[in-house]
Amino acid sequence: MLGLMQEFPLLVTRLLDHAARWHGDTEIVSRSVEGPIHRTSYAEIDRRSRALASAVSNRLGIGMGSIAATMAWNTWRHLEIWYGVMGLGGIVHTLNPRLFADQLVYIVNHAEDGWVFTDLSFVPLFEKLQDRLPKVKGFVVITDRQHMPAETSLRNPVCYEELIASGDPGFAWPEFDENTACGMCYTSGTTGNPKGVVYSHRSNVLHGMMCCLSDALGLSSRDTIMPVVPMFHANAWSLAFSSLISGARLVLPGPKLDGASVYELLDRERVTFTAAVPTVWMMLLKHLEQNPALRLPALERVAIGGSACPEAIMKAFVENYGTDVIHAWGMTEMSPIGSLGVKSGRTSALPDGEWWKIKLKQGRAPFLVDMKITDDDNRALPHDGRTFGRLKVKGPAVARAYFKGEGAAAFDADGWFDTGDVATIDPYGYMNITDRSKDVIKSGGEWISSIDLENVAMACPGVQEAAAIGLPHLKWDERPLLVVVRKEGATVSKQQVLTHMEGKVAKWWLPDDVAFVDDIPHTATGKISKLTLRERFKDYRFPSA
Ligand code: AMP
Repeated sequence: MLGLMQEFPLLVTRLLDHAARWHGDTEIVSRSVEGPIHRTSYAEIDRRSRALASAVSNRLGIGMGSIAATMAWNTWRHLEIWYGVMGLGGIVHTLNPRLFADQLVYIVNHAEDGWVFTDLSFVPLFEKLQDRLPKVKGFVVITDRQHMPAETSLRNPVCYEELIASGDPGFAWPEFDENTACGMCYTSGTTGNPKGVVYSHRSNVLHGMMCCLSDALGLSSRDTIMPVVPMFHANAWSLAFSSLISGARLVLPGPKLDGASVYELLDRERVTFTAAVPTVWMMLLKHLEQNPALRLPALERVAIGGSACPEAIMKAFVENYGTDVIHAWGMTEMSPIGSLGVKSGRTSALPDGEWWKIKLKQGRAPFLVDMKITDDDNRALPHDGRTFGRLKVKGPAVARAYFKGEGAAAFDADGWFDTGDVATIDPYGYMNITDRSKDVIKSGGEWISSIDLENVAMACPGVQEAAAIGLPHLKWDERPLLVVVRKEGATVSKQQVLTHMEGKVAKWWLPDDVAFVDDIPHTATGKISKLTLRERFKDYRFPSA
């Protein structure tokens, strides 16, 4: 027997309907690509998304199943494109401008993107690349007539504001199956080619709701949310959906993500919740350190993920600015949130010192994510906080395949997705990432966590950033090399770093050497690029080797 409840497909346009109807006046503040601060509301975004949908279906032929790419910063217009195209049954493919040209060309061609919506910032890039993108029909430049480039060699250039002006703001959204695809994002492709992850309306709605839960990001209409994490980095960690579900005020930082610009918006717009990768927060904290009078009185919590959040960053937020930190882990393949380091009923009772040890971990699974650790033979391992194994996940917002069937090996026959991460799970249910399986340092048959080494090193005075990599060693197979960027003006030495680390990690984990460099390379999504570092240090030999 079936239930007798209404048919109400979980389409992402429901989120916009809700925000426009019940939080219609709530403000969306953006730093525009053209420069000035722009203010609008959910009601206005709703009208303009409908107008855009009607215009792109009439004039550009975008409709059910069309794949349209965006290369854009977080602004109100990017939000309108998401809802306008998804609302038609089209698929928005977000492109990361930090990828190398060859990767971008590969991704656009592989996804078979029809139209590309591009911010003004990227017009020169597409002018250069378009000859290698034969399937792209044309480019919508996300700006008004006044700012359109006077001359451009772009194929079929269309002005975004003119497109909207020609559309119908009363356009009625079509209804269709909630399992219809609506978004696409490629993995960063650190091994082999990037692979396409395809989200559905249903997965985005469920994942957005999950993120609002108080044991997740705890979002509400009392919040002012600033997603510093770009919409092209795994759906801005749900915030382009969950902000509308909660009816929160939204602040979109546009192209300026440096410490001073981020601070300016956090402070002036009285942001209560924000999210981004650790490198963004390093820049903000550096700015705050250089300007000791600056405070963050409105900012209640910050979600940090994408790579391991060093203790030094967490402590700086909590102890110096009274802002709580939620350490989150996830993947493009998980929409992306997989775990969050928030207190549970059981851990609330722990003394502060004990809680901090747990808070540094990547956290526990929210409702709609299931996780387990297994050995290489797929046998489940105990949740004792010590045994580490392959981390596998399951849920309605976890990928079950990649676009065009690639990378099938990551999907187990029994429906679990192998994350490629190595982790422990403790008796309270908190998961701790040891490493990407390919980054773990294998010394004498035992494993050393590069993340733990980095965490401890980054708390050493004078250290700005640290990365640990395993390099070949005759006796031990691999030993850790610690690569360090000093803080501006600091003179911290190898011996000082090693002395600081002593007693904080097992003695045999201590790096065999410390190399000081001017910069540590990062990937397009802000992770330390271990691949590039290993390449840089391929001729390095340990003094002891
Ligand atoms: P992406 O799909 O680009 O977001 O990358 C996902 C990968 O980033 C994960 O599989 C992890 O290896 C890494 N990652 C994400 N968040 C964290 C975190 N909080 N701590 C450690 N690694 C993380």
